[in-house]
Amino acid sequence: MRLKDKVAIITGAGRGIGAETAKKFAKEGAKVVVSDINEEDVNKTVEEIKAEDGESFGIVANVVIRDQVDKMIEDTVEKYGKLDIIVNNAGITADAKLVKMTEDQWDKVIAVNLKGVFNCGQAAAKVMTEQGHGVILNASSIVGIYGNFGQTNYAATKWGVIGMTKSWAKELGGKGIRVNAVAPGFIVTPMTEKMPEKVLEMMKNKSPIKSLGYPEDIANAYAFLASDEARFITGAVLSVDGGVVL
Ligand code: NAP
Repeated sequence: MRLKDKVAIITGAGRGIGAETAKKFAKEGAKVVVSDINEEDVNKTVEEIKAEDGESFGIVANVVIRDQVDKMIEDTVEKYGKLDIIVNNAGITADAKLVKMTEDQWDKVIAVNLKGVFNCGQAAAKVMTEQGHGVILNASSIVGIYGNFGQTNYAATKWGVIGMTKSWAKELGGKGIRVNAVAPGFIVTPMTEKMPEKVLEMMKNKSPIKSLGYPEDIANAYAFLASDEARFITGAVLSVDGGVVL
């Protein structure tokens, strides 16, 4: 087991990639804090982990609200005594072409995908700095690297996440903290279910291996980067996208 007795928080773990990552980490021996804005989804993921004899507890928190993020970190340390890993996975889309994008669509996506990652990363880094070790993993996207039609707001945040990742890697490396990002391609989750079937089919055909990705593909990448096997990897952006180039 690659994450035996490590304490890990996964945000946005109620469903999709976050839920799969939480389950993968538990199978690898981690004590997993399932965090999400949606209580029902939190409980569902925690129950699924416990049904497989994993160790987990749930925290309902909105990553945009600093008090809730601070409480999430405090409750984790109170329950498990430390925080080894945080996966800043919570993210949203609100797509529109540039000329039609509303201020509200811009603000909402910036809030969750950028401020949310900042809030969680900063709060976690304080505990990890005191401990002298830790791993921070951030959710970027292929869309942050290449841009995408109708996703000005989302692409800006996912490129911004790369900037934060590289800055934190430089700032925190001397404190024993590694920081990396994962840039998924098109992964079959509730987020991409909103996309037209023909776009998903096009993405599949663009991949040299002619496949979309699945949440477990991303969970596997997070598990590797969180483990000691990745001890020499920091400031990296791991593309997990089936080789697709937009
Ligand atoms: P998802 O299925 O939509 O799941 C995201 C989870 O985050 C949901 O449970 C959602 O709760 C929760 N969430 C939303 N806002 C939150 C907030 N303010 N605080 C806490 N939790 C919040 O998304 P996914 O496809 O698994 O994607 C996960 C991450 O990977 C995202 O950062 C996404 O940008 C990134 N990513 C995904 C893909 C893809 O193809 N799926 C590709 C590249 C990158 P609700 O119930 O409220 O929605």
